[in-house]
Amino acid sequence: MGFDRFFRPASIPALVFCALLGTVAAGRAAALTLLRDADIEHGLTELAFPILRAAGLNASRVRILVVHDSSFNAFVVDHRTIFLHSGLIQKVESARMLQAVIAHEAAHITNGHIARRMGNLQSARSAAGLGTVLGMIAAAAGGGQAGAGIALGAQTAAMRSFLSHTRAEEASADRAAASYLTWAGIDPRGLVDLHQAFAGQELLSLATQDPYMRSHPLTRDRIRAAEAYVAAQGEAIPPDPNHDYWFARLRGKLSAFTRAPSWTLRRAPEEEHRDIRLMREAVAHHRQNDSARALARIDAALALRPDDPFYFDLKGQILMENRRWSAATAAYEQAVALAPRDALILGGLGRAQLAAGRLKDALDSLEKSRARDFRDARVLRDLALAYARQGEPGMAALATAERYALAGQLDDAGILARRALRHLPRGSPPWQRAQDVLSASEKHRKRN
Ligand SMILES: [Zn+2]
Repeated sequence: MGFDRFFRPASIPALVFCALLGTVAAGRAAALTLLRDADIEHGLTELAFPILRAAGLNASRVRILVVHDSSFNAFVVDHRTIFLHSGLIQKVESARMLQAVIAHEAAHITNGHIARRMGNLQSARSAAGLGTVLGMIAAAAGGGQAGAGIALGAQTAAMRSFLSHTRAEEASADRAAASYLTWAGIDPRGLVDLHQAFAGQELLSLATQDPYMRSHPLTRDRIRAAEAYVAAQGEAIPPDPNHDYWFARLRGKLSAFTRAPSWTLRRAPEEEHRDIRLMREAVAHHRQNDSARALARIDAALALRPDDPFYFDLKGQILMENRRWSAATAAYEQAVALAPRDALILGGLGRAQLAAGRLKDALDSLEKSRARDFRDARVLRDLALAYARQGEPGMAALATAERYALAGQLDDAGILARRALRHLPRGSPPWQRAQDVLSASEKHRKRN
């Protein structure tokens, strides 16, 4: 039980880490830990939006999610999500480089490279014995069962080969990426910068290469081709100040939560945007358990950007982790007023309301959050807790069933779904969701 792994290193307040888990064919569990943060995800959306639109994708439906992994990698497994490793975000040097990665991954979606892979999967599944992991990705990509979620084992050989693109795919993705960037008014030189960062890696052994290099093979021809498109674009396009701001902010927040607070406090003064500097210092002081300084810094950042929902969200988190439930609730309420559709912020409000003993309000916020993002394991756990307190065992069991399904523990999910079905009114929407989890669990059992 309890494979809902969201890491919170001892005594260190952390960004929200939650895990998408898969059980690989050999039976060994491999974790992919997602790092969920409303501010960082918003920044990525700011950077990605014009590119996704240029690619003809529905920019509000494609999510950019951060995987907590220090290696350099980015990948897509379905049509709705681009995964970026936190290591990639830390290592790229400019907004345009990060945007080149996003454009390249978007091109893998639009050029049908995912569809081809899914087609191969149907025939390859039994022969290759990839089993659960890839089957569930296929289910997630099909978008059928909301309850089934996705589960990945990104470290396995089977997964690696699934994620690898052919040289022809790489060349076509680069070509498309260069066009998307240009149409979006972003300098496509980021693509060449990206390739240059990898120059020489093809000479390294597989073990020392970055995973991005293994899954997106780089050849001299590919580099030359990209340089040619970029040269054909003509004059350099000046950087967009809004993109530069969000790039600095999302990297600043990521490093403030992942590097030593002393490092952040030493480096923050170099930050040219004053509010970002204050936010980073707030995180560093908070991680050093200095709540007075942390709150003073985040309040100063809010004085500069009084309508910023994500700074209120961070203030809520700091107060929450200092067990000041009602002050935390007030901060999250302000965040929600400014960003009423943000699932992560709604989840934060729900958590604070639950801690403050406001059960009805908590259920309302958490349900709103779940309706917008069913992949947040923390929200599902809080929902189960809230429903149990409310005396609704069917709804509590359903939330837990969905959380297990999300983590790839389909046997446990099935047991909880059966329990939920015993309590829920037959034919009601929650009953239907429990049915979806149960049928995903039964399908999984038949396959094995
Ligand atoms: Zn690629």
